[in-house]
Amino acid sequence: MKVGVLGGGQLGRMLALAGYPLGLNFRFYDPAPDAPAEHVAEQWIGAFDDREKLALFADGVDVVTYEFENVPVESARFLAERVPVNPAPDALEAAQDRLREKTLFESLAIPTNRFAPVESARDIAPAIEHVGLPAVLKTRSLGYDGKGQWVIGAADDARRAVEAARGAALLLESFVQFERELSIVAVRSAGGETRAYELVQNRHQAGILRETRAPAPNLTRALQASAESYVVSALERFGYVGVLAIELFQVGEKLLANEMAPRVHNSGHWTIEGTAASQFENHLRAVCGLPLGSSASIGRSCMFNLIGQLPDVSSLLAVDGVHLHLYGKSPRPGRKLGHVTVWAETDDALVERIAHVRQIVEPS
Ligand code: AMP
Repeated sequence: MKVGVLGGGQLGRMLALAGYPLGLNFRFYDPAPDAPAEHVAEQWIGAFDDREKLALFADGVDVVTYEFENVPVESARFLAERVPVNPAPDALEAAQDRLREKTLFESLAIPTNRFAPVESARDIAPAIEHVGLPAVLKTRSLGYDGKGQWVIGAADDARRAVEAARGAALLLESFVQFERELSIVAVRSAGGETRAYELVQNRHQAGILRETRAPAPNLTRALQASAESYVVSALERFGYVGVLAIELFQVGEKLLANEMAPRVHNSGHWTIEGTAASQFENHLRAVCGLPLGSSASIGRSCMFNLIGQLPDVSSLLAVDGVHLHLYGKSPRPGRKLGHVTVWAETDDALVERIAHVRQIVEPS
């Protein structure tokens, strides 16, 4: 089978690397001439709204999927008239707009923090009234890695943020005093089978994911069961085929959904070494109509993103249990250049290895 992938970033590159052992082939589509997937697969360069090129791209692939969620939904629908597109464009559409996403969570009884749309300065007062302060004002679409977000302590901050957003549709949501950030990655097959990975704990800095610990320390069955029930209800709503991730805030014993990603997710990279079938493999199995693989963890893992510049690779590789993944990108501040997963059989061994890796990745 040949899989067409919209977006040619590191997620696409890791999809291809997981797919070759299954006998799959790939064709990527990305506007950038030097996207990370180009080193491992056929790559088409084109705009996401170039219908002529998209039609040619679809001709000769068996299924289309995406590794980037800001593909115009009209383009996904255009492709779906020609070739199966998984996950369905409806799920992509819901995940592209924070208001739709939060409304979806509410309709599925997935707990989420309070929110209100803000279209102009006039909406600020009623939105604050509903949401309370402090709050976070976010652009409804195209925000990522903490971009397009303003923490609001008073109505004046909101007015300034609305000006800075220059007419973009916004969402005000309550600021959550969370104990920690978690996420759940799950997959649904075309036949309706679902598998969820263990709940993981994420540490962000300046809105960018730095570290994922799998499983989340002190993970209880109740917490895992709640997160699984939330992600499965979202999967079922769309008759979803592929991997879906939901980012969560933990407050006491409660989980609040922050956002979802209709694709393989950075907080699931540890599954390459930490499970029998990684998120990349299971996404491909799902979209290609193959049986799903086990999502059960093998041992314990911690993933570190390599951001902005690469650490000393030899020192990293000298740590037992380390697996290095570089994406072939040139260094730039804030850019995800690769990741490293450290694996161990026991918590004690993992904690020791984490300390070692952290020193190399983030020397203070
Ligand atoms: P997001 O783009 O929504 O994933 O936000 C990026 C990061 O900003 C999150 O992972 C949190 O660390 C932080 N953040 C986002 N929304 C909130 C919120 N409502 N309350 C507190 N922190 C938040």
